[in-house]
Amino acid sequence: MTASLIRTMLAASLLIALMALTGCGSRDPAAAPAKAAAADADHAEAGHDDDHDDHDAPERTTIAAAMAEQAGIRVAPVVAGTIADEHDVQGLLTPVDGRVAQVMARFPGPIRSLRANVGDRVRAGQVLASIESNLSLTTYTVTAPIGGVVLARQAQVGGVAGEGTPLFEIGDLSTLWVDLHIFGNDTQHITAGVPVTVSRMTDGVSQATTLERVLPGTATASQSTVARATLRNDDGQWRPGAAVKARIVVATTPAAQVVPLSALQTMDGKEVVFVREGETYTARAVTLGARDAGKVEVLDGLTLGEEVVVEQSYVVKADIGKAGASHEH
Ligand SMILES: [Zn+2]
Repeated sequence: MTASLIRTMLAASLLIALMALTGCGSRDPAAAPAKAAAADADHAEAGHDDDHDDHDAPERTTIAAAMAEQAGIRVAPVVAGTIADEHDVQGLLTPVDGRVAQVMARFPGPIRSLRANVGDRVRAGQVLASIESNLSLTTYTVTAPIGGVVLARQAQVGGVAGEGTPLFEIGDLSTLWVDLHIFGNDTQHITAGVPVTVSRMTDGVSQATTLERVLPGTATASQSTVARATLRNDDGQWRPGAAVKARIVVATTPAAQVVPLSALQTMDGKEVVFVREGETYTARAVTLGARDAGKVEVLDGLTLGEEVVVEQSYVVKADIGKAGASHEH
């Protein structure tokens, strides 16, 4: 059997179980209104003589190892770990201050040649344009003050360069700033020096860096505080002006027991994980502590080293539902 077939069968079993429950509830219409809230308990007392009529009995099921394998059920031991205090924020890429240069004409006059286009990579000292000076009537060259990429060109051949008019804008984009927007109380909470992972919206590529500073001012439009980090731009795909996502890890706190969030399921309104012993999977109610994006601290209900389902836990939940239903009538 394929995993998807198993899941389809489980879903079908659940549906049948639900139909059976509905039928049972309508069997005793007089008692129904008063007992609606306790329908499940009534139901268990109604006609059971096996050990499943005890409502506090552990909810468990048996899944053969090969079947579990096919269904993608994976277990991992309960371990000590850490819970991170993480903040997901958004930000913008900008060129680093001082790494963008305006290239000006020194003397006004007609532009005789332009030797660089937007997007060209240029080195410091490279000739970008030649201009005939109105003063001396000789042609002089304009060179790049820094190495980088031509971000803008405001000049056309045959046009006239005015004194102090920018001809080119060149930016060294080998590193960029990422300005992250922080709101409210997080401003006191998030400080320089903490790790931050920045992700591109376009392709999800991410880069780890460190928060360098929290700027003193507040951005008036958004009323946010800007926290700044520097990114390497080795592949040239980090583009000034682009929006990015970032995760700031403010602190990591040790936790005696952690499980992945994927281990959690809800049964009868309680948070449970499924503990495996051999081929038996038992729902175990757990008391949870702090959580982060991937993990949750377990305060009570588990023992270190116990094997809990960490993938496809919903398949186990569905199978327990099915096993319970098969004893109902
Ligand atoms: Zn926090």
